[in-house]
Amino acid sequence: MASKAIILVCDGMADRRCLALGGLTPLQAARPKSFDWIASKGECGLMDPISPGVPPGSDTAHLAILGYDPYKHYTGRGAFEALGAGIELEPNDVAFRCNFATVNDEGIVVDRRAGRISNEDAEALSESLNDIRLVRNSDIKIMFKHTVEHRGVLVLRGEGLSRFVSDVDPHKVGVKFLYSKPLTDSPASKKTADVLNEFVETSRRVLAEHEINKRRVKCGQPPANVVLPRGAGTLPMLEKLPTKFGIRAAVIAGGAVYKGVCKAAGFEVLDVKGATGTVDTDLNAKMRAAVSAIKSYDLVFLHVKATDVVSHDRNPVKKVEIISRISEAFSTIISEVNLEDTCITITSDHTTPSELGEHTGDPVPVALYAPGARYGGTERFDEISCASGTLGRIRGVDLMPIIMNFLGKVPMYGE
Ligand code: ZN
Ligand code: ZN
Repeated sequence: MASKAIILVCDGMADRRCLALGGLTPLQAARPKSFDWIASKGECGLMDPISPGVPPGSDTAHLAILGYDPYKHYTGRGAFEALGAGIELEPNDVAFRCNFATVNDEGIVVDRRAGRISNEDAEALSESLNDIRLVRNSDIKIMFKHTVEHRGVLVLRGEGLSRFVSDVDPHKVGVKFLYSKPLTDSPASKKTADVLNEFVETSRRVLAEHEINKRRVKCGQPPANVVLPRGAGTLPMLEKLPTKFGIRAAVIAGGAVYKGVCKAAGFEVLDVKGATGTVDTDLNAKMRAAVSAIKSYDLVFLHVKATDVVSHDRNPVKKVEIISRISEAFSTIISEVNLEDTCITITSDHTTPSELGEHTGDPVPVALYAPGARYGGTERFDEISCASGTLGRIRGVDLMPIIMNFLGKVPMYGE
């Protein structure tokens, strides 16, 4: 029986056959040595993160992988972004993920990233947005926090708010930014849409007069003259994993949403310098942090985003390279943890075919090493080889109980 578990989730790593790779998937083309080691010594299978054929978002897929049925527990992405950004959400808060963007005089979005605005500029602008006091909705407190690059989170705090409002972000360029609309007839939905619209109006005035934007215009850079909120969410009330299984859990991730989902599930968020959630993330630093964290936690959840980023960029060749780099860095974990006492799982939160550039509902490979596990017959970690493994085909919500069973943490049902 193991007493520790490490889970590595490579975002969107699972793929389909790629023409550019001679009909192989990137995992098949990469032949990642350390992943193959786990597959050859572990139980393998396929996993439908949500349900067969349903393309998962990263947020719902992660909820499922942590053992929560997303159809019961998902309350919008914004809350996870806010939690991941370090905001302590209260149950009535409504949170949004936001982009700094550039609109022209007619309000038409010309750049959804405000010229890939620097962290410094976005940080300074965010501070002044955080100071905004609403007039029409003076009972609602505004909190705004910058995360990375052009991204930030907005939290509305007060009574009578609802997450059922539409996005201000039109999700594309060349069209006007939108006014938020209530999505239900409830007074809370109507109020929240009005609060959001008042925030956007006020923030446009603050941004227009901000010295950072005046400087940007002078230097020929696009001003960050609008904030585009989307993905309204409220804090999901989850039974925390430490309570459910009697464990201490920690997460190592770059992106705010992954830290946020884990935080909602009771994980401690470990900040690792160089973990950026992009392709230039410091993989070795993350692996070293995991090796060190597993000494004081029972469960360490390790997330790498780069595989999804290159898949959305439709770059299968780069995906092969990224997978090889992750696998190489991951060998540190295999060589440094106590394999007699540690369960190691590798998987992906969904399939992102790199010649398609979007999430699909195909199952993902999963391999689970644990002392005493019934392995055999699988030598490689990829979408095809894992299909014939001893785990068979599972759903995302099954994964956590399967891992916790190897730690002896799942109580017997019946007697
Ligand atoms: Zn994902
Ligand atoms: Zn994605």
